[in-house]
Amino acid sequence: MSTLSIHLFRDDLRLADNPALSYNTETHQILPIYILEDSAFDGHNRQQQPVYQKDSYGAAGAIWLHHALDSLDSTLEGKLNYFRGDTGKILLDICQRTGARQITLSKSHLPNQKIQDDALAEFLSAHEISLHQIETSLLWSFDEVKKADGTPYRVFTPFYRRGCLGAPPPRAPLEIPALNLHDRLEDACTLAALELMSDMPWADTLCTQWDISEQGAHNQLDRFVSSAHDGLSDYAEGRNFPAQKSTSRLSPYLRFGQVSAHTAWHIAGEAKAGSDKNLDIFRSELGWREFSYSLLRQFPALKDTPLQAKFERFEWEHNAEHLAAWQTGQTGYPIVDAGMRELYQTGYMHNRLRMIVGSFLVKNLLLDWRHGEAWFWDCLFDADPANNRAGWQWIAGCGADAAPYFRVFNPVTQGQKFDKHGAYTRKFVPELKHMPDKYLFNPFDAPHDILASAGVRLGTDYPYPLVDVKASRQRALDRFKQISNAA
Ligand SMILES: Cc1cc2nc3c(=O)[nH]c(=O)nc-3n(C[C@H](O)[C@H](O)[C@H](O)COP(=O)(O)OP(=O)(O)OC[C@H]3O[C@@H](n4cnc5c(N)ncnc54)[C@H](O)[C@@H]3O)c2cc1C
Repeated sequence: MSTLSIHLFRDDLRLADNPALSYNTETHQILPIYILEDSAFDGHNRQQQPVYQKDSYGAAGAIWLHHALDSLDSTLEGKLNYFRGDTGKILLDICQRTGARQITLSKSHLPNQKIQDDALAEFLSAHEISLHQIETSLLWSFDEVKKADGTPYRVFTPFYRRGCLGAPPPRAPLEIPALNLHDRLEDACTLAALELMSDMPWADTLCTQWDISEQGAHNQLDRFVSSAHDGLSDYAEGRNFPAQKSTSRLSPYLRFGQVSAHTAWHIAGEAKAGSDKNLDIFRSELGWREFSYSLLRQFPALKDTPLQAKFERFEWEHNAEHLAAWQTGQTGYPIVDAGMRELYQTGYMHNRLRMIVGSFLVKNLLLDWRHGEAWFWDCLFDADPANNRAGWQWIAGCGADAAPYFRVFNPVTQGQKFDKHGAYTRKFVPELKHMPDKYLFNPFDAPHDILASAGVRLGTDYPYPLVDVKASRQRALDRFKQISNAA
């Protein structure tokens, strides 16, 4: 008779290429478990419902998690055991009842979670239960990617070029293991009892646009690598244009571990055998994910503490109306509004737009980047504790390897350049769909007859701009000078 091993699923909601799940499966029967820590609830989100601890999930993330668990449970023949409460107590109790002496889980790279996992290992070992924390998420370990003097990199290019590419290549993905699954435990709760779903109609609409399953992740990856016109074959150029399907849209799947970075790395490599600019750039984007996790490890307070200390003194504006207008896509700058509405309607936003709307919030509106981080955290399906925080510090210019503060994206020229004929903007800002290209990104400059023939009454159908881009850019630069001079 085989002995029993518990696999605790967390952000590794997949069967394929899951070294923690595959560990000892030849000799052990597997009891799959998901535990939602009760302490995961704190504060409230925009819908006045419980919001999850800062290292766990925002509102959209919780919805994705619900569907991802549901789908995982089906692939596990309905044998996934859900629990709520204290992880240590629950695991000990199950081990004592079932005789399991081994638990596997994916190694966490969230600083607080790592501390908790080490404490959990110690607690369980006192009861002669071994906890195996196995790497399933990152392509390279932190130990492999260090400078010659042994310290971690703080700048992306040497981190990736010298550190990652100089280390042994990522291992090949593992097949789905043959699993001998233990029956579901009688006291396991239902998925519904985890209360991850929001009862807002917003939740249902968001989900219609995604196949939230491991198979969905693989289909998405296949589409991305095999398309002849867009996807990987056009990635280097096409990834800048939000109307094109040139990026992988794998981010929520990677966030919840429904596909591994190793699988994405290798499948993309197989599709583009040999060297290719598109492949190199796609892989380097996976490298940014590694870099964000390295930053989070170096700076556990990445979420709310600027990595450049002088930014603590930055004088932000306090303007609740401007913040609400940004959140709801009513700034009067169509490309910004399109991005913010894409986010709210789909749980996703194209990378080019994340940069445009981020720059607009922080530099044109002069609102604290932490407001942006929090809103993205709540609305993005891919909201990731490392990527989101590093992304916001980068865009605000206060990160370790950040875009310089004086680089301010102009929302009019960005729109004209990256959404030339407005396919993306017209989709999310339909009230401007009849505006000619010439004035689509600056309707406030359009003559009356053009506005009238496009059926647009500024201030009624579409807002006047919240701020003037030139004047607000100068205001930001002046404000930045104050902290630079004082430094
Ligand atoms: C302000 C801001 C906030 C962001 N918040 C998040 C977030 O919460 N979660 C998230 O996954 N990404 C975040 N990003 C990074 C990036 O915008 C998304 O990863 C990307 O748009 C996801 O789309 P994709 O899967 O089609 O990307 P692709 O271009 O196909 O890239 C493949 C994968 O590489 C990784 N990746 C790509 N770009 C980056 C990057 N700049 N930093 C880190 N990893 C990257 C992602 O895992 C992505 O899925 C943020 C960027 C900014 C500027």
